[in-house]
Amino acid sequence: MKRICPECHFIGLGRHKGSLILGSAVIGLAIIMYGLMYQESVILSALMSIIILTIGAIGIRNYYKIDGDICPVCKYPSMPLINDQKGQQIINDNKLTIEDTVTFTCNSCDYKGLGYKTHSFKLSIIIILFGLLFSVYGLLIDQAIVLFGSIVIIGSGIYGISTNYTNQNKCPSCKNNTLIPIESRDQTKASTT
Ligand SMILES: [Zn+2]
Ligand SMILES: [Zn+2]
Repeated sequence: MKRICPECHFIGLGRHKGSLILGSAVIGLAIIMYGLMYQESVILSALMSIIILTIGAIGIRNYYKIDGDICPVCKYPSMPLINDQKGQQIINDNKLTIEDTVTFTCNSCDYKGLGYKTHSFKLSIIIILFGLLFSVYGLLIDQAIVLFGSIVIIGSGIYGISTNYTNQNKCPSCKNNTLIPIESRDQTKASTT
C-alpha cells in the first residue's frame, strides 16, 4: 500500500527498519561466536551461531523489503497510508496529486523513481573498527574461524563506505551511471508531464 510522508510529501512504498551492512556484520559475528565457543561445545556454539545468524538475515531481509512505513527520502518513521484519513488530509491540505514521487531519472533508459540506497558512513566506520578488533583478537588466539568472521565484518563496513561514493549515479534499472537527481517536486511534475 502506498503511503505519504507528512514531512517531505513523498508518495509511494515505504521501507522497513533494516540494514544490509549491519545484517552482514551480525552474520560475521555469528561466525566469530562459533569460532570462540566450538571447542567447549559444538552443539551449543552452533545453536548460538544460528540464532545470531537468523537475526542478521532478518536485518538484511528487512533492508530489501518494501511496503513498510519509513519514508525512503527523509526517513520519517511512520508514514500514513494515502487512503487513511491522515493521509487524505495531507494530500488535500497541500493540494497534492496522488502519483509516485520521482527523485531520480535515468538518461539511458526510461527509469524514474528512487536511486540506490547508500549506507551510513558512521555505521560503516564503527563496523570496520569492530571487525579490526576481532581480527586482532583472532590473530592473538590463533583462531582462523574468528579471523574469517572478522573479515566478513570488515568487508560489510568497507562495502557500506563504498556505496557513499560509487552507487550514487547508478541506475537500478539499466545499471548505467546515468542517474540524475531531481531537486524539487515542481521539476518532477515538469519532467513527467
Ligand atoms: Zn519523507
Ligand atoms: Zn537506466
